[in-house]
Amino acid sequence: MIKVRKRKILLLPGDGIGPEVINEVKKIINWFNDNKSLDFGIDEALVGGCSYDKHGTPITDEVFYKALESEVIMLGAVGGPKWDNIEFSKKPERALLKLRKELKLFANLRPAICFEQLVDASTLKPEIVSGLDIMIVRELTGGIYFGEPRGIKPIDNGERKGINTHTYTTSEITRVARIAFDLAKKRSNKVTSCEKSNVMEAGQLWKEEVQELHDKEYKDVELSHMLADNCAMQLLRNPKQFDVIVTDNLFGDMLSDQASMLTGSLGLLPSASLGAKNKDGEMRAMYEPIHGSAPDIAGKEIANPIASILSFAMALRYSLDLDNEADNLEKAVQGVLNDGLRTKDILSEGMKETSTSAMGDAIISKLQ
Ligand code: NAD
Repeated sequence: MIKVRKRKILLLPGDGIGPEVINEVKKIINWFNDNKSLDFGIDEALVGGCSYDKHGTPITDEVFYKALESEVIMLGAVGGPKWDNIEFSKKPERALLKLRKELKLFANLRPAICFEQLVDASTLKPEIVSGLDIMIVRELTGGIYFGEPRGIKPIDNGERKGINTHTYTTSEITRVARIAFDLAKKRSNKVTSCEKSNVMEAGQLWKEEVQELHDKEYKDVELSHMLADNCAMQLLRNPKQFDVIVTDNLFGDMLSDQASMLTGSLGLLPSASLGAKNKDGEMRAMYEPIHGSAPDIAGKEIANPIASILSFAMALRYSLDLDNEADNLEKAVQGVLNDGLRTKDILSEGMKETSTSAMGDAIISKLQ
């Protein structure tokens, strides 16, 4: 078993705008090292399409082992049209699936927060999204994306059949539900569990196990169950009814993307993927913006680095137990938005357009 090395941060910038936004995170880590004597060790490696170009694989064994021994992984984004037509097993995204699966990062946390300064950037009416602060907890290593059997097979009548299998076990459900309940306790104490128990046995099991865990260990947290399709509708109708939503891999993929759009810009939203704590309290975790590699704007110095910077704030909070530093960083982001600085994706009338690196510098200038 490879030991996690405390305070070791591995930067995996990846492709497209990944290196541009992770560079701003690196500046912030260095600021904490220089000004708060935090002594974070930084390492950096290739992953995704850039790794395929250099090594013929989206992640080398060497990088994978570096990831295994890092307490925090900060990922930019991977992929792009350049690699669309390569063999499935070599695609940039396979590196992410491998990291999530092998590092057992089973819980994906995605906050959807509507910044007051950007209420007008949402496609929904201001009164629906103003003050929005929800956390979606998505199961990340089970369900239909990993279940066996899977594949595409020829069948008797000359047609082909595509197969994927949706499975969940009790422990897979309870470990992610536990994370949701624990998070809710630090927030508004409300969990909504989503599945399709009306049409799927795995959904029925999900609902029963979440309820059982609640009744045994989390009676003080308010729990409700909702069908995933209804949740999709409620997220548009009245998103502020939610505090923490916990759901499986497939529904979580869709519901968290939908929730992210409530807030106006992909460039603002962070995420965390957490593993289990071992007996020494060590946990592997990967932090990344929810956006992709944005090849359409790569190299133009206009990418918004805030989602990546807020992902680092999540790392400070959830992996490094540095809540004050996380607050400091989140307040710095708010401060810069209050000053009217905007990257192109969130620019509105009367605001001042700024580049990726100038946005990073402005955030650093607000750190205390
Ligand atoms: P995308 O998130 O990269 O881009 C969608 C739109 O949002 C684009 O117009 C882009 O310019 C804009 N955008 C995204 N991030 C931004 C930022 N930080 N600042 C300003 N604008 C931003 O999604 P896509 O276009 O569907 O995918 C592009 C590539 O990224 C694909 O190859 C996809 O597979 C990959 N992808 C990777 C990840 C990941 O690495 N986790 C996630 C999603 C997509």
